Amino acid sequence: MRAGGRLILAALLALFMAACASSRPSPIILRMPPVDYGPPGDARNPAQGPFQPNQFLRLCPGTHISNAPPADPERWVREFHPVIVAFGVVLATVPTNDVCLTSGFGLRGGTMHSGIDVASRPPGTVYSAGPGRIVEARSSSGYGLNVVIDHGRGVYTRYAHLDWFAPGIAPGVSIGFGHPLGQMGATGNATAPHLHYEILTGNIDNPRGSFGLTAHNPLNFPPYDWAASPGS
Ligand SMILES: [Zn+2]
Repeated sequence: MRAGGRLILAALLALFMAACASSRPSPIILRMPPVDYGPPGDARNPAQGPFQPNQFLRLCPGTHISNAPPADPERWVREFHPVIVAFGVVLATVPTNDVCLTSGFGLRGGTMHSGIDVASRPPGTVYSAGPGRIVEARSSSGYGLNVVIDHGRGVYTRYAHLDWFAPGIAPGVSIGFGHPLGQMGATGNATAPHLHYEILTGNIDNPRGSFGLTAHNPLNFPPYDWAASPGS
């Protein structure tokens, strides 16, 4: 089994290298690393959703993005890692499929943009970036309909401007990776449908709740090391 696993890994690597050599082809689908959560039906083994991260991310065409990450002349984000490790937690970098980037993290027109904005047309499904427990699912001023997930280790993710919540999305619910949270929308302070996605750290038991957490640039975390994963 292990040798077979290595072979598949080598084949995937060859595919990846081939993809890098040519100009970016259609996205290659990645499989998430196997994780042992315990037996099916166990509360520690929440259902995994259908999401598969795209391997590449492109800046949306026709727009100037003042806080854009470094990108090549064809607007592909350089050194993009589809799966990252944020303070010990494995997360998808962009928790929705086939999107382009409309805004990066950081100063934008003199104000701090505490996440990244991505969009697709038609607006797509938004998924959990990693397994965890929903701590907020509500409408907040500015963010509109938004979900906050606690991934443990003081790491949280927020998904904002959703059009609606998927069935069962409520505070206290444990979910797996890639679980549908709702649909990309324009609720709150948004001029067009997009997903505003944040990676947050800190202690949520503070007077400001999730607004008292510290935001980090999802594009600045190290990649998940597939070769070192327990399943390889
Ligand atoms: Zn935003």
